Amino acid sequence: MLTIRDISIKNKLVLMQVFTSVLVLGLCFAAFILTNINGYKVRKVKSMTSLANLIGSNSISAIEFFDNETGQVILSDLKKISPEVIHAAITDKKGNIFATYSKFGADTFSFSSNLNAKQNYRLSRHDLIVKNEIVNNKEIIGTVYLHSDLSELNEMLNKHYQIIVVLLVVGVGLAFLIAMVIQPYISKRLLDLVKIMSQVSQTGDYRSHVVVQGKDEITALSVVFNNLMDQIQKSHSKKDEFIAIASHELKTPLTSIKAYVQLLSKIENKEPNIQFVRKTLENINKLQLLLSHLLDVTTIESGHLRLHINEFDIDTLIDETIASCQMTAGKHIIIRKGIQINSMIHADRLRIEQVLVNLISNATKYAPDTKNIIIETSKKEHEILISVRDFGIGIPREEQSRVFERFYRTKHSSSHISGFGLGLFICQDIIKRHNGRIWMESEGLGCCFSFTIPLKNSFVMELPKVSI
Ligand code: ADP
Repeated sequence: MLTIRDISIKNKLVLMQVFTSVLVLGLCFAAFILTNINGYKVRKVKSMTSLANLIGSNSISAIEFFDNETGQVILSDLKKISPEVIHAAITDKKGNIFATYSKFGADTFSFSSNLNAKQNYRLSRHDLIVKNEIVNNKEIIGTVYLHSDLSELNEMLNKHYQIIVVLLVVGVGLAFLIAMVIQPYISKRLLDLVKIMSQVSQTGDYRSHVVVQGKDEITALSVVFNNLMDQIQKSHSKKDEFIAIASHELKTPLTSIKAYVQLLSKIENKEPNIQFVRKTLENINKLQLLLSHLLDVTTIESGHLRLHINEFDIDTLIDETIASCQMTAGKHIIIRKGIQINSMIHADRLRIEQVLVNLISNATKYAPDTKNIIIETSKKEHEILISVRDFGIGIPREEQSRVFERFYRTKHSSSHISGFGLGLFICQDIIKRHNGRIWMESEGLGCCFSFTIPLKNSFVMELPKVSI
């Protein structure tokens, strides 16, 4: 069910404005109608009482002289002077009917059953009955009764209702227009803030700031956001600095440990010692890979990753890389498919090799129970395309867009296959710096990682500092 929280701020503002306008207009109209009706009723009672008084004054001599005919004539004048009077009657002091009047076509009417002795008037939605005593020389000699129709009031109310509906529609329309004009000043700034926040969460670029304008709560929120970004940026720089120093400091002792263990592996040939030495070497290699990844990431982030561009034969590089990866690929067979590129390219040979090695070693790592890994090459007019396909665990659709992020590892792989989530981040940066593209596809079985390199790399892209 749609709740108020599900409605966007923009629509909430418009709704609020329209609702307030309807409420205020409704209250104003109700007050107007009530005062108008009451005013009308008071006026009507007064005017009917005055009329009854006038009829009474005119009837004094007729009553005194028991002249019913004159009384009848006086009442029949009502037809002309007050057509809304339906019934009228004059009674003598004993309450006996002296003269009566009924409008043409009106039903019979009894004043005594519609007005009790204590009431001077009785008002309903449709009619009004008034009573006025006839006084002569301080003595009550009779009473005048008038019964008049209030259909005029209903007509007046209907007209009012029609005008109110029109005014309400116009008022709501105007309120809607005003709300649409005003709401961007509030909701647009909030939406901008949300946009920048989601950009930050996607790109991890904590240098993003929002423009601070004005003095309201949204400005306060923007200031807090900017301060938060500065703090994250600072703590990231400190962390990167620490990783860079630690990696550098670990690299030299690790290189000499590796040299000693390699020496040991040459002089030691007894089992099980040689097994222990081999295991130690394997783990030293893993550590060296981690350190080199960490160093690459810190150079990428500080914007200092430089490419050493030279011209080389890409087919040779691919074949040599396949051959060297095949030596450590165990039961996997790395097969090259597609065309021979037969072109010299301008690129950083070592870095392109690093990308290929990373993609091939991922293919072996994440497809442990399969045999073939296929490297496919093709050439277009301006670029070459290299794909590495495996038939392993693949990557779920919802995680595919994140695998190039720093430290991202898929939920499935992270639990039982070792890795740091840095390799693809570095590959992406290297390829981007070559003005190429890198992407992945995983439909059904396994994964296919592809990248392009322009054939004529006239310039090498200077990427901005990355901070994630
Ligand atoms: P690492 O392999 O060290 O974890 P990468 O940056 O090379 O780091 O890869 C990031 C993540 O992408 C991996 O942790 C894994 O979850 C996923 N991934 C990469 N290559 C493959 C592949 N060929 N098959 C399945 N998942 C892969």
